[in-house]
Amino acid sequence: MNKPDFIPYAKQWIDEDDIQAVVDILRGDFLTTGPSVAQFGEAVAQVAGTKYGVAICNGTAALHAAVAAAGIGPGDEVITSPITFVASANCALYVGATPVFADIDPRTYNIDPVDVERKITARTKAIIQVHFTGQPCDMDRLREIATRRRLLLIADGAHAIGASYKGKPAGSFADMTTYSFHPVKQVATGEGGAIVTDNLELYEKMMMFRSHGITRDPAKFRFGHQPWYYEQQTLGLNYRMTDFQAALGLSQLKKLPMFLQRRREYAKRYTEAFQNMPGVATPWQSPDGESAWHLYILRLQLEELNVGRDQIFQELWDRGIGVNIHYIPVYYHAYYRDLGYAKGLCPQAEKLFEAMLTIPLYPAMKEAALERVIETIQAVVKSHLR
Ligand SMILES: *Cc1c(COP(=O)(O)O)cnc(C)c1O
Repeated sequence: MNKPDFIPYAKQWIDEDDIQAVVDILRGDFLTTGPSVAQFGEAVAQVAGTKYGVAICNGTAALHAAVAAAGIGPGDEVITSPITFVASANCALYVGATPVFADIDPRTYNIDPVDVERKITARTKAIIQVHFTGQPCDMDRLREIATRRRLLLIADGAHAIGASYKGKPAGSFADMTTYSFHPVKQVATGEGGAIVTDNLELYEKMMMFRSHGITRDPAKFRFGHQPWYYEQQTLGLNYRMTDFQAALGLSQLKKLPMFLQRRREYAKRYTEAFQNMPGVATPWQSPDGESAWHLYILRLQLEELNVGRDQIFQELWDRGIGVNIHYIPVYYHAYYRDLGYAKGLCPQAEKLFEAMLTIPLYPAMKEAALERVIETIQAVVKSHLR
């Protein structure tokens, strides 16, 4: 158990109206796949600026549905970032494809389009880019590469609902963008996810994939016609979201502008507090995008400190500041090492990993907590300056 004054790195914000929205569904007819699921998919698409949205049971399933709909399979390669949650790469493995890691841009920590281009082979089918921390990737260059090299552009937008790129929703740039509504993310449904797209064919494939590959649309049947008939046409899963989760999501989405505003305000406060402080670097923000600020990451300037990241981590944790590491490079994990991946693949990512520290940021954070995070980090870092 954490101490009572422990400040976590992230936390959901649930109001009475969120609770009421869930209760209303529990009192109604549909616990799963009722009207709220469809409405939530549409509402996410609206925020993302796309035509279609599929609500699904979590962000990992969203990525799986996207690669499956893309027809990616054995023998294919997908290029992704190593500085992400494992799910961004695992989705390729689920369908028998091979994840290939491209290095990050040391300024934005997003995938580096130059290295993406270098890693493309005759087998490459897609780029799975991650809008890391909520800051949009360089979409102009990634789109240009994807179009020229005939690749599908999939965005893992788990950090980025509400982010914008060149004044438009960041979710409207890739062929498919996936979201997660895990409680640490901007919008909480418990477990939950979505995929948005402008492509009707991909949308229909993902809708079928979400529920066993079954269609109930008589116009699409190949063999039967009876009123009780439904037809499985592809191999899907049960990746459905429940109606009470979707109702919670709809209620949470109404608060998204407020959540984003608070995240942006807190991020600004952190940057003001830390930007001129020796020993740390604040996250650089491209003028092309506006981040949704899922994470605020300090980069320790290790050459200015007399200890490593892990010592700073421990001292902050001991003082009740719930710092975290996002992320262990995906290919450092035991499973990936067993597959033959080794250190040295992405030098910028590996260097960043040694120095990165996620500090608490969530809209429900109180002013006093924000100040305590700032003061504690300032004191701990200062005590370790060379
Ligand atoms: C949270 C997250 C996911 C997975 O989402 P779940 O809803 O937990 O399955 C995928 N990718 C990234 C980058 C994430 O942060």
